[in-house]
Amino acid sequence: MENLLLNLSYLIASVGFIIGLKMLGSPKTARKGNLIAAFGMTLAILATIFIYPSTAHITVSTFIYILIFIAIAIGTAIGWGIAVKVEMTKMPELVSFFNGMGGATAALIGLMEFHHNVGNPGKIFMIIAGLVIGSISFSGSMIAWGKLSGKLRKPIRLPQYNILNTILALAIIGFGAYIIISGISNLLYIYLLFALALIYGIMFVLPIGGADMPVVISLLNSFTGLAAAFGGFLYNNMAMLTGGILVGSAGTILTIAMTKAMNRSLSAVIFGAFGEGSQAAGSGSKIQGSIKEAGPSDAAILLNYANKVIIVPGYGLAVAQAQHVLHELEELLSKKGIDVKYAIHPVAGRMPGHMNVLLAEANVDYDKLVDMDDINNEFKNTDVVLVVGANDVVNPAAKNDPSSPIYGMPILNVEDAKNIIVNKRSMKPGYAGIENELFYNPKTSMLFGDAKAALTKVVQELKGM
Ligand code: NDP
Repeated sequence: MENLLLNLSYLIASVGFIIGLKMLGSPKTARKGNLIAAFGMTLAILATIFIYPSTAHITVSTFIYILIFIAIAIGTAIGWGIAVKVEMTKMPELVSFFNGMGGATAALIGLMEFHHNVGNPGKIFMIIAGLVIGSISFSGSMIAWGKLSGKLRKPIRLPQYNILNTILALAIIGFGAYIIISGISNLLYIYLLFALALIYGIMFVLPIGGADMPVVISLLNSFTGLAAAFGGFLYNNMAMLTGGILVGSAGTILTIAMTKAMNRSLSAVIFGAFGEGSQAAGSGSKIQGSIKEAGPSDAAILLNYANKVIIVPGYGLAVAQAQHVLHELEELLSKKGIDVKYAIHPVAGRMPGHMNVLLAEANVDYDKLVDMDDINNEFKNTDVVLVVGANDVVNPAAKNDPSSPIYGMPILNVEDAKNIIVNKRSMKPGYAGIENELFYNPKTSMLFGDAKAALTKVVQELKGM
């Protein structure tokens, strides 16, 4: 009876994860999808705490139950507190941090379970795999968190880091295999493996720079899923297995989509070819030419007399929280009979889907959001492109300059449009840390200022026209 109840709970939980994940595919259903998946997770946790022990003939004392619930309460309070307070622009760091926590949990399972399973090579394999992958995911995610929050901006590379990292990876695999095959029970070995995997995670992410972070983040995400799936095998826990596999496969699909969007092979990301370029760019050449400044009224005039406008949102839109006023501007232009669309670059912002989430928050009509591949041919028939807080995703160096660290990344072809308005606060570079020749294009007018303040002025001007 208990077995049936446990499996039924896990089945409902797994279905909840799958439906939830599917619903995350659209901003319209994402909130509900998240709640459904959270319901599934709560059910799986409760079933594991209350039903699993009797199916496995384990007696859990009241004291242990109290400890479990104290731990859950502390974790919930911290997670809730951070998530409620976090600003939208800090979400990617938070996601990276939480992902790291998932990896750490999988690693802790490995450390806890090792000595219980000595002599059972099958289980030791699951433990070692979960421990190694979870540890890499944990320390790698912490470095990614540092990079996204701006604490670790520059890629750090030891000489010959590719060779060093490969040797370390092979050493970890060899050492792990030795522990499994030898049946050794000394805990020191497992702690040494844990330390090596942590070091590898750091060495793996530290050298990655330029604009490659989106790929790394989704790769680490898939690692955490994989580590959790090994935990599911270890405990024969179907909900943990399904959850881990879903995270692992979703992360892998996202990694592939990101590498495609960046026109990069996964090995080029991991072995850091972008990085070599970044260093060159750091010492690099300055673009010659002058820029043309425009005020809010100049921008409003250009927009008012256009037939077709494309808006390109970027990270700065999120920083300024200007999505609502941008939507107001778009509605105003549409009412004047102007065709307005948003061009969405797959890595604009600081997390996959960042722009979609931001614009959905301002109730922008989802049909107005057009993906890069579908809109790139439309720029040549466009009167005005309004770039709001985007930089790397519109940098023509990605197409024209083989020495650029972002060379090869597909970009939005904004320079094909008749007029370009770029709104940002200064001439400072974006995430990849490089200059942008688009700003020096004779067709470009720079509208300097915080996006919210600048767009508010443009809206006021437009209302008076
Ligand atoms: P960028 O980081 O290239 O540029 C953002 C620009 O916004 C800056 O140049 C900044 O200029 C401007 N800005 C900042 N604050 C404001 C403000 N308040 N008002 C107006 N402008 C502002 O952003 P993109 O979206 O073009 O490109 C994303 C980059 O991030 C890519 O390199 C991508 O690879 C990387 N990345 C993406 C991730 C993802 O998953 N999407 C994850 C990690 C990295 P100024 O300071 O002069 O205002």
